[in-house]
Amino acid sequence: MSKIVVLGGGESGVGAALLAKHQGFEVFLSDQGQLKPEYQQNLLDAQIPFEQGSHTMEKVLEADEIIISPGIPEKSPIVKEIKQKNISFISEIEFAARYTQAKIIAITGSNGKTTTTLLTYHLLKEAGYRVGLAGNIGHSFAKQVMENQHDYYVLEISSFQLDRCFHFAPDVAVLLNITPDHLDRYDYQFENYIQSKFRIFQNATSHNTCIFWSGDPVLLSHASSLPHQAKLRTISFDDSKADMLIQNNQLKGSSQFHLNLEDAPLKGPHNAINMSAAILAAEAVGISAESIHRALKTFENAPHRLEPCGTWNGVQFINDSKATNVDAVFYALNSFKQPIILLIGGVDKGNEYEVLDDLVKEKVKGIICLGTDNKKLESHFGPICSSIFSTDNLEIAVKKSMEWGQAGDVVLLSPACASFDLFKNYEDRGNQFKAMVKMLNDGK
Ligand code: ADP
Repeated sequence: MSKIVVLGGGESGVGAALLAKHQGFEVFLSDQGQLKPEYQQNLLDAQIPFEQGSHTMEKVLEADEIIISPGIPEKSPIVKEIKQKNISFISEIEFAARYTQAKIIAITGSNGKTTTTLLTYHLLKEAGYRVGLAGNIGHSFAKQVMENQHDYYVLEISSFQLDRCFHFAPDVAVLLNITPDHLDRYDYQFENYIQSKFRIFQNATSHNTCIFWSGDPVLLSHASSLPHQAKLRTISFDDSKADMLIQNNQLKGSSQFHLNLEDAPLKGPHNAINMSAAILAAEAVGISAESIHRALKTFENAPHRLEPCGTWNGVQFINDSKATNVDAVFYALNSFKQPIILLIGGVDKGNEYEVLDDLVKEKVKGIICLGTDNKKLESHFGPICSSIFSTDNLEIAVKKSMEWGQAGDVVLLSPACASFDLFKNYEDRGNQFKAMVKMLNDGK
């Protein structure tokens, strides 16, 4: 019997261990940290031995194959040893995909993965498909494969997972965009990160559909790496049109899908791209335009992504706390025609704000910097925005936005930064913002 070692005991690792055991492997799980009690119980119930707090190298290196959590970097000592011993190590996605006949839609990109994954899942679910949601989102893919209740999976896939995929060949692969991110894991070489994202297409044949945004400069400059043998579907988008034509350009007779952006469930040009990707993916697995139109009407995005959180005295408040990089703020600013009061700031990850300058000059009437250290924001935006205010207190920030806001304005929390200086995480920041906005407005 072959031995499988699973490194990392989170949702994906525990799911992989359960599936491996179910497939008859001898399984051992090892985690340097502590496992959640529910995961410990899952392993005990399945009689899978595990350790926590440290890795016992002899046991790990006994493996015939290792399934590794995406959180463990390639440069860590344990991975170096595994490589030295020449043991195959793969992601949970690569492992689980071996054991399912279900059709897989896999979605990656630097931004928009969660939104597009949730929408695609919604379109399949509303069409009556037996569909599972997994990857970076929802329950473990491997565990669902073991339970074997789905004919389709929609997977959100990160570059770290792709790095350890070799034969994974999703029936439908979506690559939304590529902008610099996670460079610390890629030797600070953007090209390495680009190559990682392209792995989503690496095994595509003429049976697979590959969807990408043709306006992305990085994808265009790497056009030769696209899988030209596959069924390629391109997303193109004209910002000036309210009615989007989603062209299924490779189908015989060429079908077209009309999407009226005014009525669409998601706003902004970036979401037009996300919606097109989801619609093309749904069409690729046989869902009719009629069914897609019906399902679009009932879609609600996950919170903290351009989430409307109320209108008071004609001022609309928007929570975009998930915007933790500059690119996401660029698209957020582009999503509104009204004057904007922008709440920005937090832990700066080496941001370069110049790309926002034209939009700020055109649309932003006031900037409120919210963070423990706002100096970089003040010195960058001070010269180009007439009203700028700094605080490390959420209540003061929201009060200032209400003081500045006039009917017809938008108050937008889109921080461009991580949240850890003042909040637990981006969800906490978004939730506190929503609660504060409501409390202060109701109390007026
Ligand atoms: P991810 O899962 O890739 O982080 P999300 O759907 O959670 O993506 O969105 C993260 C942030 O990026 C949000 O602020 C959102 O408004 C923004 N965003 C969403 N889609 C795109 C896109 N296609 N291009 C650029 N930014 C986007």
